Amino acid sequence: MVLEGLRNAVTKFLKGGSTYKDSVEEFIKDLQRELIKSDVNIKLVKELSENIKKKALEEEPPSGISRKEWFIKIVYDELSNLFGGDTTPDVEPKKIPWIILLVGVQGSGKTTTAGKLASFYVKKGYKVGLVAADTYRPGAYEQLKMLSNLSGAMFYGDQNNNKAEEISINGVEYFKNKNADIIIIDTAGRHGYGNEKSLLDEMRNISNKVKPDEVILVLDSSIGQKAFDLAKQFHETTPIGSIIVTKLDGTAKGGGVLSAIAATGARVKFIGTGEKIDELELFNPSKFVSRLLG
Ligand code: GDP
Repeated sequence: MVLEGLRNAVTKFLKGGSTYKDSVEEFIKDLQRELIKSDVNIKLVKELSENIKKKALEEEPPSGISRKEWFIKIVYDELSNLFGGDTTPDVEPKKIPWIILLVGVQGSGKTTTAGKLASFYVKKGYKVGLVAADTYRPGAYEQLKMLSNLSGAMFYGDQNNNKAEEISINGVEYFKNKNADIIIIDTAGRHGYGNEKSLLDEMRNISNKVKPDEVILVLDSSIGQKAFDLAKQFHETTPIGSIIVTKLDGTAKGGGVLSAIAATGARVKFIGTGEKIDELELFNPSKFVSRLLG
């Protein structure tokens, strides 16, 4: 694991000659600086620091472990707990068909991710259907159709209909008749910032009619501090169950993701690591913590 930022702070902490309390305070300052540099929401950084400090100063280490070693463990644990701890995300459908609604800002990578998810589940042996309900972005229909071919998933779309709600209902019906195990609906993103009532209304309508089993927010890793408000807005429209973070192959550290988790209580399930259909990975909390601090 490359944990440069944290590692430096850890070395400083372990070698430092100051008292335990002073070292803890200093380490927490370093940690805060690293997290804020990575776009993590300030409020969240404060909460996290307080939790770590409280544990470090009020609790006693178990026997056999030095106080300083124990402190480092507290820091790692608290950080990865925010992302769901050691557990691998559960991505199996809980019923058949399992209906997934993808939401997010235009350009976040929704359509690409729909294709990647389809491919992931087809490879696992599921029968997958993709519904093209993004009626705003020119090219979204063709893009999803192409991705369904590439992934081996079935495709439903209707270019003569601009009502995303109708397409979604018809698509789900179509795939139920085809005995699909997993149905993935790609919705319009538009901008997602500010007052975008029509988009949010459309999403709410689709959700009310189709009753998805899982609403997944697709989030560009470079979103930064805006992530909190954005995720909150989506979450209030239709409760977000999980998050997929895209473009983690780029330079963004993805700190905004923590804010999105705080706003929704959702778990990150997958990350996108490239433009290709197989560039999707199961989310790994400790690896992500490393990236955030590395
Ligand atoms: P949508 O408007 O949300 O449906 O976004 P698209 O799926 O069209 O994606 C927007 C752009 O981001 C496209 O150029 C994609 O190839 C690119 N993209 C999506 N996911 C990733 C990723 O994980 N890594 C990289 N590098 N590019 C991605």
